[in-house]
Amino acid sequence: MAQSKRAIKYVYYFGGGKADGNESMKNLLGGKGANLAEMAGHAKLRLPVPPGFTITTEVCAHYYKDRKKYPASLERQVGIALAAVEKEMGKKFGNADNPLLVSVRSGARRSMPGMMETVLDIGLNDTTIKGVIAQSGDERFAYDAYRRLIMMYADVVMEKAGGIVPASGKGIRRVLDEKLEKIKKQQGYLFDTDLQVAELKLLVKDFKATVLKVLGKPFPEDPVEQLWGSVGAVFSSWMGKRAIEYRRIEKIPDEWGTAVNVQAMVFGNMGETSATGVAFTRNPGNGEKQFYGEYLLNAQGEDVVAGIRTPAPVNDYSKNEQSKHLPTLEEIMPEVYQALFKIQERLEKHYRDMQDIEFTIEKGKLYMLQCRVGKRNGIAAVQMASDMFLEKLIDGKSALLRVAPSQLVELLLPMLDPEVQKVTRPIAKGLPAGPGGARGRVVFSSDDAVLWAGKGEKVILVREETSPEDVDGMHKAEAILTTKGGMTSHAALVARGWGKCCIVGCADIEIHAETKSFKANDGTFIKEGDWLSLDGTKGLVYPGSMALVDTDLNKNQAYKILMKLVDKYKVMGVRTNAETPGDAAQGLQFGAEGIGLFRTEHMFYGEGSDQPLFLLRKMIVSKTEKERRVALNELFKYVKKDIKQTLLTMGGLPVTMRLLDPPLHEFVPHDSEKLQQLSKELGISMSILKRRVLALHENNPMLGHRGVRLGISYPEITEMQIRAIFEATAEILKSGKKALPEIMVPVTCAASELIHQKAIVTKVYKEVCEKTGLKKIPYRFGTMIEIPRAALMAAEMAEVADFFSFGTNDLTQMSFGFSRDDIGGFLPIYLDQKLLPDDPFQTIDQEGVGELIRFGTERGRLTRPALKVGICGEHGGDPESVKFCHRLGLNYVSCSPFRVPIARLAAAQAALEFPAS
Ligand code: ADP
Ligand code: MG
Ligand code: MG
Repeated sequence: MAQSKRAIKYVYYFGGGKADGNESMKNLLGGKGANLAEMAGHAKLRLPVPPGFTITTEVCAHYYKDRKKYPASLERQVGIALAAVEKEMGKKFGNADNPLLVSVRSGARRSMPGMMETVLDIGLNDTTIKGVIAQSGDERFAYDAYRRLIMMYADVVMEKAGGIVPASGKGIRRVLDEKLEKIKKQQGYLFDTDLQVAELKLLVKDFKATVLKVLGKPFPEDPVEQLWGSVGAVFSSWMGKRAIEYRRIEKIPDEWGTAVNVQAMVFGNMGETSATGVAFTRNPGNGEKQFYGEYLLNAQGEDVVAGIRTPAPVNDYSKNEQSKHLPTLEEIMPEVYQALFKIQERLEKHYRDMQDIEFTIEKGKLYMLQCRVGKRNGIAAVQMASDMFLEKLIDGKSALLRVAPSQLVELLLPMLDPEVQKVTRPIAKGLPAGPGGARGRVVFSSDDAVLWAGKGEKVILVREETSPEDVDGMHKAEAILTTKGGMTSHAALVARGWGKCCIVGCADIEIHAETKSFKANDGTFIKEGDWLSLDGTKGLVYPGSMALVDTDLNKNQAYKILMKLVDKYKVMGVRTNAETPGDAAQGLQFGAEGIGLFRTEHMFYGEGSDQPLFLLRKMIVSKTEKERRVALNELFKYVKKDIKQTLLTMGGLPVTMRLLDPPLHEFVPHDSEKLQQLSKELGISMSILKRRVLALHENNPMLGHRGVRLGISYPEITEMQIRAIFEATAEILKSGKKALPEIMVPVTCAASELIHQKAIVTKVYKEVCEKTGLKKIPYRFGTMIEIPRAALMAAEMAEVADFFSFGTNDLTQMSFGFSRDDIGGFLPIYLDQKLLPDDPFQTIDQEGVGELIRFGTERGRLTRPALKVGICGEHGGDPESVKFCHRLGLNYVSCSPFRVPIARLAAAQAALEFPAS
């Protein structure tokens, strides 16, 4: 307790060219307070900031620890700071003749826009208002401020902080607002600014009576009570429902707390030479280096954001469709505009980043009320980072850290034209599973999607849910819309991998399969063939065909500059997962340094799959090795062609080919026509065939006869594939080109399995070398680690394997014992109740699954120091997981083509954040 006697500093003053705090003290002063101090007090800035003081976040912590009480010395410290503000302003708080008014503003470490509360015009009452009128000579202004104070105070302090929960739509702000609207209507006024003094006076009276009636307590006339009431309300708004929810989403810890800023009021509502506004030092929508902002004449506080009137543009550049006819600030107050323009330039230089600023003009004099690093979309983030790097405002490392990897997604996809979007009403809203925009004609089945797309139609596939059988139709569709399922549903995962526009869980619409139509909650009726447009970034569904604006990455100079920096700093490699040569080409374009996972199974799905699928089925239901070899020999040419094409596309970069791991239960035929065909082909009766099919049934196929187990029970399956790989490679080499295959054995759990398979590889290798006359064919042999035991046996595995690739999807599934296909029933509850911090299928569970990866990598490299280690699976494109892999010292991550740029940026950032020691 000795510490409390040392009088901790709880209050930090700013104003008049001085400040106790500065920009680096965000933890203590909150973002707003720290930046107010910086603007007011930094020797290079000393901007016109109304004087005030910040009560620290430590007081917030104290407030919550000690049953909403303040530290003993706080009152005294506030008194001293308030006196300094009074001196600077030449006014006195609560004084009848020359009253000081203040605002009480929240401000946490990180901005939480709109989440917490602000009260303006504190200090007004029936007495002080006379002083304000005498001082300003403007009665209308004084009553305008008064009615604002009563409304804000009643709402923020008396109702919300008072713990009063009104019936929906019956909140005090709403009730008072309706009174204001009623007068406007009676008088035929359009705007708040049309209200006359007499009406405002009546309104103030009415407001007070209403507050007493509705809340059971009078609006407090005592300025000191107003001040402390507001301070307490800001602290308690930290634990308000909205604020808590926001922090959950943004992952802001509850312990941070908020600071409180008390600041002398300046007035933007003193008539036509006064205004309030918001501006950005660069355009946050596209990143252009242009001062961009909006203002409202004769207004206060949040009027600009609240949309009470259409805000006017500060300059020509800031005009939009709705505001283009309004006068710019540059036109009507050229000097103020120039001053503002200079300040914003200085601020950006000072902070070396785009600033979001709030300002107020009182009778032609400019005041700065806030600045902070401005939020921006992905396109703007990339533009600004690259521009600022070229302008030498920031260095390359800072430029790289300015873009969140996930923001790159926005650059890769076409979007709905934002101008058209502004004037169109959506008919439904769902979860934004795959960003970007798309338009097309509605179809309700995968088959129809394939059929229509085959005729050159653009389609949008609308389903309740999707499953692996829908993959072909999904691929052919411009976008996918499902009415059920969450962000980890099949549709969402698949779409994200492809970078396809997708909305899931859109409960606003109901599908009528029989009539091939759907109805939206708002009554809109859409039938097959109608046009629909989707905004997958926001989850919005629009009727009709909306224009798209394209994003050609190669034309985006800013992106190219950023990616050059990425390559300069990145240590870990990034490969792509590819199912087809087309995927491989796409991944290459995005900068992939090889293929980390090539699955041949895709040839059994979708277009052109009839023949290979038939052969695969034939192989599956074969009884004897002889039968099986016949089928395999026929399948061989398809497999080899696929492999050769992919190797050629990658031009000598490593291609990890996983040996077949077909989910047997998915491939076994069930319909009688297909069975007939098979029985004829195999020359066996239907009843024998049916018995064989039945015998293939497994109780738990995910843990069944799959992966390497297949290659062990039927070595000829492995043999066929190895031969295809070596022959394809040999042919490429002989044509003078390069190829580097990596053979990957899936679903292993013991080194003995690898030894078994390696023997086949060695045998076939010799045969192919002899046959082709080549002395050497380059290749690597390794395994996919997806069973926990395999990770634990890494030391032994590495005696046979040249490389490990952690298959993190299955490794997660088997470590948790969570079936990936069935998590819908329980995982949301786990996340909701915070039993797990994240969906482990989206971001690597670093403590558990991550520990297996770390252990496996370390043990493996003890045996074989040159062991190459990577991961493949959804996690390879998740920035947090990528950074984790860098820290573990993995050689590469592999992810779907559209995630490659994201993974590259994340890898570069990881290299900067965690430099190798
Ligand atoms: P938020 O964190 O929600 O942006 P602020 O504390 O910035 O809330 O307050 C909202 C608005 O209130 C400010 O943008 C400004 O227009 C107005 N405001 C706050 N304090 C003052 C003041 N001392 N004088 C004039 N206007 C103020
Ligand atoms: Mg606010
Ligand atoms: Mg603000």
